[in-house]
Amino acid sequence: GYFMQFREGHTFFDRWYAHSENPTRPTVKISVEQARLFTRQIEAALEKRGMLYHAVGHGWTCEAFGVPGLGWDPVIQDWPGEVANSLALVNGRRMMWNDIPLITSLCFSNANVRQKVIDCIVDYVQSHRNIQALHFWLDDGFNNKCECAECQKMRPSDYYVILLNELDDTLTQLGYPGKIVFLSYADLLWPPEHRRIQNPDRFIMMFAPITRSYRRPLFPKDLEYKLPPFVRNRLIFSNNNDEQLAFLRSWQALFPGDSFIYDYHLWRPGTYTCDPDALFLARLLSSDIKNLKQLGLNGMVSCQLQRIFFPTGLAMYVMGRTLWNADLEFDALLDEYFSASFGPEWQLCKFYLQSLSALQDVVPILEKDLVQHPQAETQLEQGLAVIQQFLPVIERNLKLPEHSQALSWFYLRVHAELMQQFLCMLSARAAGKKEEAARRWNEIKTFVREKEDEIQPVFDVYAFISTFERAFREEAG
Ligand SMILES: [Zn+2]
Repeated sequence: GYFMQFREGHTFFDRWYAHSENPTRPTVKISVEQARLFTRQIEAALEKRGMLYHAVGHGWTCEAFGVPGLGWDPVIQDWPGEVANSLALVNGRRMMWNDIPLITSLCFSNANVRQKVIDCIVDYVQSHRNIQALHFWLDDGFNNKCECAECQKMRPSDYYVILLNELDDTLTQLGYPGKIVFLSYADLLWPPEHRRIQNPDRFIMMFAPITRSYRRPLFPKDLEYKLPPFVRNRLIFSNNNDEQLAFLRSWQALFPGDSFIYDYHLWRPGTYTCDPDALFLARLLSSDIKNLKQLGLNGMVSCQLQRIFFPTGLAMYVMGRTLWNADLEFDALLDEYFSASFGPEWQLCKFYLQSLSALQDVVPILEKDLVQHPQAETQLEQGLAVIQQFLPVIERNLKLPEHSQALSWFYLRVHAELMQQFLCMLSARAAGKKEEAARRWNEIKTFVREKEDEIQPVFDVYAFISTFERAFREEAG
């Protein structure tokens, strides 16, 4: 299957065409109608391949009021009174959450508000009959739920279940056979206390543990782990995988229907991600997928970048193969991938990436609970030496007769150049040289921008730059 996020995925196409992180490229603004045309092409490609089409997700909570939910950008605008009165009451005010319609919650105890949302979904499914699994998620905010006297009476998930049941009633009356995917995520991880889904056959539960740790498999160590208390709009989202799985079990106790996980291993981009070790991440994917059955989940939708094959596509390969056959062993897939991708000298290549991975995981950027390794600078220098020693191997493989293998080595050469700069930046950070680190980061940005035409099929420049920029901003406070 394939999941197309939002009605026409406008924001994701826009990230490419607008080139907002690459001033050396022209900015092309695409319209919603153009994004719709792209979406239709994707739909045709899915149909041709007999793939399940999952669609939409967030956005109903604003589209229902004629307010587009195209993405996470703020929209400064005066909304009509009807919209304002329907919004969640938070801190005594009903207003857009950070001016972003997509993450603004509603007053769901209000029957008129619920009816608006349901009408919006019903209209949509009737004119989009090719969708096999329509995702009905609420707003993409957290700690932003309505505090009015009525809404306070039950948890947000209770009101969500009321909405799901009302939607199911209407769809049943209309004879609509499609499945609706509902989401256990953020504030909705805490299960309903008073309401139950009446017609489980209509629904598929999607469990999205977005704050989980990607350093450890998602598998319980403590089956007795208790849910943290639900305190409206004061919720704390932990990266403790036992806690995440306690949420899953609490929903499973109430909902007997079909379910899958929505997971984020490849959400962040490129060469040095939440997890700097791409081999580690591929291995983690393998064990997470193998564990799904024991967790009572029937599959996975990967919330990820489309272009995430740099320097290799190992993680994607492992994900696809293991979702198809969970008995496949990771090490066998690893060898299969490297030998096919890199040709005769694949073992050298595998050893090189393994050595490099082991040396760079010393200066935390994105994973907050890591600490800097005491030997960080020495290790990073060793990493530079590993790259330097390997460059001749890359050079002699660039002209392999098999084009796809030569291309793999080409990407590896760009990766080596990028990693040399990246390790220098990490080294400056490890030594506390902030100005040098900032200068190095600017050089890295220039490098990937200049290379964008050559590497864009496998590497998302926008995502790479914006992810680290955000991390550095948060770090600087
Ligand atoms: Zn309310």
